[in-house]
Amino acid sequence: MLKLKTPEEIARIRNAGRIVATVLDQVGQMVRPGISTLALDAAAEAIIRQAGATPSFKGYGDPPFPASICASIDDEVVHGIPNANRVLREGQIISIDVGAYLEGFHADAARTFPVGTITQAKADLIRVTEESFWAGFAQAVVGNRIGDISAAVQAKAEAHAYGVVQELTGHGVGRHLHEDPDLPNFGHAGRGLRLEAGLVLAMEPMVNQGTRQVAIKEDGWTIVTKDHKPSAHYENTFAITADGPIILTAL
Ligand code: MG
Repeated sequence: MLKLKTPEEIARIRNAGRIVATVLDQVGQMVRPGISTLALDAAAEAIIRQAGATPSFKGYGDPPFPASICASIDDEVVHGIPNANRVLREGQIISIDVGAYLEGFHADAARTFPVGTITQAKADLIRVTEESFWAGFAQAVVGNRIGDISAAVQAKAEAHAYGVVQELTGHGVGRHLHEDPDLPNFGHAGRGLRLEAGLVLAMEPMVNQGTRQVAIKEDGWTIVTKDHKPSAHYENTFAITADGPIILTAL
């Protein structure tokens, strides 16, 4: 069921979103060769709890996700599990995805960071993945349809011959971390749900350097590219308003 949010509810999601943005800013600055993904997770959880919020991801799903962030390195697309033995190395890229729950509402965002110096090919992948988000965001206006967002994301990524992951999508956000509607990163302009003021969505393109095909690891969570080429991820939670879309996961 679709739940449109009031301006007061959107303000609360924005409060949770500021915590998410703080985590991505501060934990992003910790990304460097030699640090473990578990250390990044511990820092993220401390920031969330010090702000009076709860990590949205911890305990989510089945099997219950054990951490506060998803930390996905190189060919891992999303949902990587933080681990003391996963130590970052020069030249890798890492996607950090985080959610915070505050006063009854969630917010959700992700960024992909370079570990030290990376190849131009990886830098291009990170940049185009973010650009595909903003191409979709420009279509997130009242009167357009979900497919207008999806098609814009896909067109931007595929113009660079990247693979756009189809098995996972963006989603509504509110009292639940994942609400209706789904927000695919591929589709056809002019199709799907008509966008209304009060819709709060997380858009999260997952863009692969090679094939769009993915597989799931034996841990039941981690999604990897089938060809083991790198993947990038970029996500914000935003509200659609009469005055245009507003990012809620910003400082
Ligand atoms: Mg999400």
